[in-house]
Amino acid sequence: MRKKPDFAISVADIDASGKHVEAAIPVEFLRTAFEDSDAEPRFGDGHVDVMLFRSGPDVVVRGRASAKVQLACGRCLEPVEVTLAPEISALMVPASKLSSASKDEHEMGSGDADVVPYDGETVVLDELLRDELVLDVPMIPLCSESCPGISTQAQVAERAVDPRLAPLMALKPSKAQAKVGVLTAHRFKPKKKTKKKE
Ligand SMILES: [Zn+2]
Repeated sequence: MRKKPDFAISVADIDASGKHVEAAIPVEFLRTAFEDSDAEPRFGDGHVDVMLFRSGPDVVVRGRASAKVQLACGRCLEPVEVTLAPEISALMVPASKLSSASKDEHEMGSGDADVVPYDGETVVLDELLRDELVLDVPMIPLCSESCPGISTQAQVAERAVDPRLAPLMALKPSKAQAKVGVLTAHRFKPKKKTKKKE
């Protein structure tokens, strides 16, 4: 069974001056929206603030949604709190009109707004909000612009290696050489290779 939409606005409620829709985005809605992403909505409800205007049978939707999510820093993997605030800009077009008319015509005439079909009576913003929020998740979130990342930790670990083992580290063995037997041989006969002709 289909769940009842969280954000449904009857076209009949949109008068000549438009309709302002400002509401919380329930955290349950956010959980569903981000269930296939790395973002975790663990800071409560989001927020949506949009204006709806009628344009003939179409409805123009403009505004912004926002939600806080937790992500892992792309460098050090520490948790980062990210505020998503995608712009919402869509043209809701009756599905009947979309299927009969050429879709290209709508895409060309709508600028950068998304063209979203609706049933001609009730505008449902759920899918639009979900898509825009998920698209706003940064590919590589950073805990700070200057995050040194985990490479520094690796360098620290390398420096901490027993100096007597340093020659081994310098060998940077290939996978084949990395076998314990080879490493042991180097360790116990460190001078064997040094007497080569120059
Ligand atoms: Zn970081």
